[in-house]
Amino acid sequence: MLNPLKTFKMALNMTKKYHIVTFGCQMNKNDSERAGALLTSLGMKETTVLEKADLVLVNTCSVRQMAEDRTSGINRKILKLKNQKPELVFAVTGCMPGRDQDGRLRKKIPSADLFFPIIDLPRLPVWLRELRPGWFKINFEEVGEYWNIDPKRDLDYKASITIQIGCNNFCSYCVVPYARGREKNRPIKEILVEIKKAVKNGTKEITLLGQVVNNYRAPDPENYNKKNPFYPPLSKTEKLKYSDFGALLWEINNIPGDFRIFYTAPDPQYFDDYQIKALSLPKMVNYLHLPVQAGDDEILKKMNRKYTREEFINLVKKIRAEVPGIAIGTDIIVGFCSENKKQFEQTVDLYKQCDFDIAYLAMYSQRSGTVAAKIYKDDVEITEKKRRWRVLQDLMEEIVLRKNQKYLGQTVEVLVDEFKDGVCTGNSNEMKMVQFLGNKKMIGQFVKVKINFAEKWILKGERILD
Ligand code: SF4
Repeated sequence: MLNPLKTFKMALNMTKKYHIVTFGCQMNKNDSERAGALLTSLGMKETTVLEKADLVLVNTCSVRQMAEDRTSGINRKILKLKNQKPELVFAVTGCMPGRDQDGRLRKKIPSADLFFPIIDLPRLPVWLRELRPGWFKINFEEVGEYWNIDPKRDLDYKASITIQIGCNNFCSYCVVPYARGREKNRPIKEILVEIKKAVKNGTKEITLLGQVVNNYRAPDPENYNKKNPFYPPLSKTEKLKYSDFGALLWEINNIPGDFRIFYTAPDPQYFDDYQIKALSLPKMVNYLHLPVQAGDDEILKKMNRKYTREEFINLVKKIRAEVPGIAIGTDIIVGFCSENKKQFEQTVDLYKQCDFDIAYLAMYSQRSGTVAAKIYKDDVEITEKKRRWRVLQDLMEEIVLRKNQKYLGQTVEVLVDEFKDGVCTGNSNEMKMVQFLGNKKMIGQFVKVKINFAEKWILKGERILD
């Protein structure tokens, strides 16, 4: 496979600068890291100042309306800038171009010279050369696949590794299958090579990324270790039931080095016994993010989520029984089409039963092009959506405080992210924010901290020497 980084090295005639704006999720951030690596491989330099850039790349998100509105705002800025700098190239990628079936969104960004789904990122150098031939001294030929571009990471101690792109699930509220296309899994061989390289470069936290990460099925299963106990020979029917994700986690755990593994986002319907067992592997964080979205069966069905509330609650019980002390987080949408008060109360009840450590709460907002936008009415009043959001937020805060107080007197392991005014801040293996007195050299290191103070959103403690 061709490596774009090697191919394009120093292709520019003169130094040109790029500026990247990223909206949205971790997946988008990882996409931008790849875009940065590709542009750097051309000899371009990054600038944090949009006005100084020769190329502005906006990586858009369509999950919330706000990100699309902000992209339109950048478009207005670029239109003005182009008057002074006609050579300026404005490229728009990410979810917006991906889901723009009828060209309606493209029309909203008239100053864009390039408007392409992220999967086409490897073609960017060729398009740039076509647009600005004077910038480059060589011709570009074939480029590799999207995930052959090594990301240019801002932090060397944290690495997001994409193992899958796209999604086949078509939850009725979600734009992802339209924006990112159908699910495609990356070969395990490539995943392990990228992780080994990151670990060799000092990475302490690996985040595996995929839209339905736990439905991972290696296109090259022959590359699993023959002794992998999480990849037993299965019959054809069992193979449909079980993904390879547990087996992948076992392989990554076997890579030597001092690092921890986190993944996002799994779908409850694909969570099998191998994956539950894998949660106890030594390098796994002690946290699982498991989106439920709603706690009522009728609403789950309308959302096209393929599990019932009972199945979800039982899964959480099973996980907590197998991995005592694991922290579990979730995503919930309140006020989905036709959700009544009784159905919302089912979500509240599920929340209590699952005793989540954290929840990312969203009020439903209609996204054009989705099934929900086509066939259901967004009929829950905004005031009622806000009320439901507040009910769950209050419940979450109450549970978080109770749970955090259980850490008093316990020692947790923290990966340090920040040092300011003598205080280090980082996340524990349970993804709890922890602060303690330390020094700058601790950034990117694991530190053991004994907790002696617990608030809602923060634990504080003192460093313990091994
Ligand atoms: S699983 Fe559902 S919510 Fe997640 S990306 Fe796919 S369609 Fe969207």
